[in-house]
Amino acid sequence: MNRSTSEHLYQEALQHIVGGVNSPSRSFKAVGGGAPVFMKRARGAHFWDVDDNRYIDYLAAYGPIITGHAHPHITAAITAAAENGILYGTPTELEIKLAQMLKAAIPSMDKVRFVNSGTEAVMTTIRVARAYTKRSKIIKFAGCYHGHSDLVLVAAGSGPSTLGIPDSAGVPASIAQEVITVPFNDLDSLRAALEHWGEDVAAVMVEPIVGNFGMVMPKPGFLEGLCKLTRANGSLVIYDEVITAFRFHYGSTQTYSGLDHHEAITPDLTALGKIIGGGLPIGAYGGRKHVMEQVAPLGPAYQAGTMAGNPASISAGIACLEVLAADGVYDEMERLAVRLTAGLQESAGRHGIPLTINRIRGAFSTHFCDHPITNYEEAQDTDGELFASFFRHMLDRGVNLAPSKYEAWFLTTAHTDADIDATLAAAEDSFRAMAA
Ligand code: PLP
Repeated sequence: MNRSTSEHLYQEALQHIVGGVNSPSRSFKAVGGGAPVFMKRARGAHFWDVDDNRYIDYLAAYGPIITGHAHPHITAAITAAAENGILYGTPTELEIKLAQMLKAAIPSMDKVRFVNSGTEAVMTTIRVARAYTKRSKIIKFAGCYHGHSDLVLVAAGSGPSTLGIPDSAGVPASIAQEVITVPFNDLDSLRAALEHWGEDVAAVMVEPIVGNFGMVMPKPGFLEGLCKLTRANGSLVIYDEVITAFRFHYGSTQTYSGLDHHEAITPDLTALGKIIGGGLPIGAYGGRKHVMEQVAPLGPAYQAGTMAGNPASISAGIACLEVLAADGVYDEMERLAVRLTAGLQESAGRHGIPLTINRIRGAFSTHFCDHPITNYEEAQDTDGELFASFFRHMLDRGVNLAPSKYEAWFLTTAHTDADIDATLAAAEDSFRAMAA
């Protein structure tokens, strides 16, 4: 496959844009380096690059594009918003509509505030939890990604009673000291951390279903235990549902039928992003009324935004949720994902390649290993070189995946059986080449 124009543009981009990319996850560093593919057009489940190669897309822009690219209903909503003026700096009726839609689907959110990204949403939930509890420390789980604000770019110390270490240059050690990281799916470690840091802990933050070291379900009882232990400690539970909300059904993890005891797993605060903006920049956070009333202008916790609630993002979000509210949409994404994962597993097996697939409805992750993936340590202990090789073989055969062994594949409402057939044929060829 000729990608010479991408290679040329990458050299050009390197002159002007740091690392040639506007988000490090877009670089090919984790899959052997070189030029990422420069796309120029996308429609439905397909991309076309600057050399006119076509790809089936499973990246879905890291999640938001659940209705496929350029969905006509969303495009019409954005066009209408643009024609009416794109930014007012005043309240609009549209914001109320999307807030109502979110509240109806995620009942733990009595009050909502729109921001511009998942990072902002998460960052503010932490501020609100700190304002509400008048405590400062946060407990989070290893491998969960919560955006790039200082507090959540902190890695694990060497045990639940040790404080974090900065995961990025520029995050001061004094900030990392405010964060404790424990393993996902491990209530004993959480209990130990809560016992040790007790009244300093403002909140426990979690991706209730993990999307950032593969797709990983909480073990039965994990979220119930997390909520119970956290509340008993007087701390708040924050769910980062930036990936998970509206991903598996029209709602969030809190109401997902794949999990029981919804009341026992209801958080105090929820952070949202991605799908709720239909592909335009958005974030939102919300929670119980008395907690949200900490936020300015009602309360002392300050958060603001020039672009927050802009009509284009809000209109795209409403349109996206309208598409997702139709009957059978999630069942169809799941049906295709079942076909695809079964075929991948079979094909890898035929060529003696170890592959563990974690699938949750229409989203799944592929781990080159022969053990289950239930936490970050296990996800790290997989073959990155095999993944890199698979990624490149698939790309050369017209299948676009995320360039990282930790990222998910996302089915969209635009994928068809023909896409699955073509992907499986590409995978069979790829595994054969890898095994040779
Ligand atoms: N939280 C989770 C679970 C995410 O996966 C991400 C991004 O991938 C974020 C937060 C940050 O969102 P954004 O990239 O919109 O800032």
